[in-house]
Amino acid sequence: MAYVEQVLEELKKKNPGEPEFHQAATEILASIAPVFEKHPEYEKAGLLERFLEPERTIMFRVPWVDDKGVTHVNKGYRVEYNSAIGPYKGGLRFHPSVNLSILKFLGLEQILKNSLTGTPIGGGKGGSDFDPKGKSDNEIMKFCQSFMTELYRHIGQDTDVPAGDIGVGGREIGFLFGQYKRIRNEHVGVLTGRGLTYGGSLARKEATGFGLVYLTEEMLQSRGKTLKGKTVVVSGAGNVAIYAAQKATTLGAKVVAMCDSNGYIYDKNGVNLDVIKQIKEVERARIKEYAARVPGSEYHEGCSGIWTVKCDVALPCATQNELNLDSAKALVKNGVFAVGEGANMPTTLEATEYFLENGVLFAPGKAANAGGVATSALEMAQSSQRLFWSFEEVDAKLKSIMVGIFHNIDATAEKYGKPGNFVVGANIFGFEKVAEAMMAQGIV
Ligand code: NDP
Repeated sequence: MAYVEQVLEELKKKNPGEPEFHQAATEILASIAPVFEKHPEYEKAGLLERFLEPERTIMFRVPWVDDKGVTHVNKGYRVEYNSAIGPYKGGLRFHPSVNLSILKFLGLEQILKNSLTGTPIGGGKGGSDFDPKGKSDNEIMKFCQSFMTELYRHIGQDTDVPAGDIGVGGREIGFLFGQYKRIRNEHVGVLTGRGLTYGGSLARKEATGFGLVYLTEEMLQSRGKTLKGKTVVVSGAGNVAIYAAQKATTLGAKVVAMCDSNGYIYDKNGVNLDVIKQIKEVERARIKEYAARVPGSEYHEGCSGIWTVKCDVALPCATQNELNLDSAKALVKNGVFAVGEGANMPTTLEATEYFLENGVLFAPGKAANAGGVATSALEMAQSSQRLFWSFEEVDAKLKSIMVGIFHNIDATAEKYGKPGNFVVGANIFGFEKVAEAMMAQGIV
């Protein structure tokens, strides 16, 4: 459609040197063109141009002093992308690769993801190019305090509610929350993923991984299959990967490979998650350790090799663009029949196309990994009510949200003449609600 193509061209021109942002926008716009055919009034209201431009982008300096007394300066960001359906919501990422392109791609995806959950939250994303790897707890605390000393003035429980992402887990959220509370003198739900002793929700830690598997299982069942007895490869060994592997194992699948950014482990007997948790959550060590501790398992240098491991179901849970066309070809050759994205945009555009052309059931991240933010919304609800729900209660709500998302995107794909294309289904279903809310609120 001419309008959509023209806006995408403009976006590329106006945002040069931002390949991840271009990639996410291209994928989304290719799907949502039919919505604009149905609603010509959207073009007149400049809806797409407004949707693609963040409402606000904050960039700031984060100075901190390491244990040796050396001063460092990192870049800090918060992209407050879209607040049409609720306060900005989305994680903070601490990783050396963080830049505006990555945060804008993540923020844009987040708008649609949050809409898909059916909860009232808008989209945002933030973070820093700070690398938490190898830093002491004291250095992490100092960095988090400096980061929050600027961020606090831009966020709030009804304005913008950040959470964790790559490099930001329970420890970092604790330090960030402590500093916010100290500066603002208020104990409120301004961050999610908080510890259970200070307002966190049970099942938030597990939510993204569990949710991914709930949605994947529902997708399989809708096509007469199930995870039981299947071989699964999960990339990553962080928050999403560990709990995806755990839930898949509980449902009777065998997880045979996991990785970190250095390499992957293969365990034909099924990965022992107690060992992984000890290495990754307790010791914060490298996955290579696993092979030294578990007889019969293997370690291979380099992480892309993980996609050459034969499996029925692949769950990429590490990072963006970790699964390219060559990897997709290797997976299909080895008989993969379903892919569920735990990470954000882990599959390149070409690889996604290849899966769809080859009849692989493909659950895109904005739907499949929405369980984390959905449970963050449940955490916000508990904070507002000063209530605390049981693990079972939160888990049941999470499961029902994930099952609901699958059926919504499945039905939408069907309605728009693309049965089984859950990329189209997710983009359109997520976008329709945001578009309607934006139209109702006028040109702002
Ligand atoms: P973590 O930091 O807990 O774990 C990330 C894992 O991915 C680590 O094992 C890390 O290895 C690995 N990894 C990172 N970069 C690379 C790379 N370039 N190549 C190979 N492996 C890599 O992050 P999360 O588990 O929280 O996040 C993982 C993905 O899921 C991200 O895309 C995130 O945006 C997405 N996500 C997370 C949600 C959440 O609730 N946490 C919610 C929705 C999406 P290493 O330790 O070596 O860096």
